[in-house]
Amino acid sequence: MKIDCHTHLVVPTRGPRGYLSGWLARSPSFVVMKVALGLSGIKDPEAAYQLYLEQLANLVRTSELDRAVLLAFDEVYKPSGERDEKHTRFYVSNDAVIDAATAFPEAFLIGASVHPSREDACDELDRVADSGAVLVKLLPNSHGFDPMDARYTAYYRKLRQRRLALLVHAGYEHTIPAMDQRLGMPERLRRPLDEGATVIVAHCGSSGRLHTIETFPQTMALLRDYPNCWADSSALGNFWRSQYLEALLDPELMERRHGLRLDDPFAKIVHGSDYPIPLTPWSLRRALGRADRKAIAAVENPLQKDIEIKRRAGVPEDCLGRFARLAGIEREEDVASA
Ligand SMILES: [Zn+2]
Repeated sequence: MKIDCHTHLVVPTRGPRGYLSGWLARSPSFVVMKVALGLSGIKDPEAAYQLYLEQLANLVRTSELDRAVLLAFDEVYKPSGERDEKHTRFYVSNDAVIDAATAFPEAFLIGASVHPSREDACDELDRVADSGAVLVKLLPNSHGFDPMDARYTAYYRKLRQRRLALLVHAGYEHTIPAMDQRLGMPERLRRPLDEGATVIVAHCGSSGRLHTIETFPQTMALLRDYPNCWADSSALGNFWRSQYLEALLDPELMERRHGLRLDDPFAKIVHGSDYPIPLTPWSLRRALGRADRKAIAAVENPLQKDIEIKRRAGVPEDCLGRFARLAGIEREEDVASA
């Protein structure tokens, strides 16, 4: 099965489904998505949300994907276990994603999010796993927790026991306001890895352009050292991270730029888009010729366009089916029983 393991759900109005701060609601990714999906003129927020879900499901159905994992994003919690409303700028509840996947089971899989400092964290992991979740998404920089903290050991063991992959951001965070960028250093993922959780490092744990500290080689070292460590290709078709796709495609370039050689890095890469982050094929000048860029420009569906960019750049087809193998959902029957 071809699965995009990294597709964002956005809940624009404050309520039990979630929350988006005004600053994020005005971000280019969100505004462009609203216009592209025909949502900008709709006044009734509930009608706009339902149309948004339908349009999103349609993007999956009209692409070659079998499913997209729709991601929740938990609120911030203090180390004491208390909810931290002041630092929560973006929230998508697990129920919002569970409801979307229930309404459109042919399009979506459930990507839950459970802050590990919650008092009920392990119970919530059980609840989302029972609801069919295939992964749990966290962003330490913005969720304000240290993945190395020994208090989370039971949480990581629960992830492993329930076969929930941990999709975790590493590197600098640019979109959702960060509480502490140091919490995103890839090295800090050694604890969940040592506990045997399946860890997928989002956008290959790269820093992005213009950062003086580069985190991509640390992530590549984790891929090399841990059989249970994987990375996703999300956002690598965007200007801020396209140079890492070029490094993955050329082992010599990776060695020259990042001082580390992996002969087959794609053996550890899982397909993900990071929709609605915009795609900029012009920034992959090494990997895409003019004819490639022309063919890509003709593809309107952004989920399919992301696949085409990576395919034409030389990313092996295998990456599209890797998440299904990791999650044990290679056939339709497996999805039904997940
Ligand atoms: Zn993302």
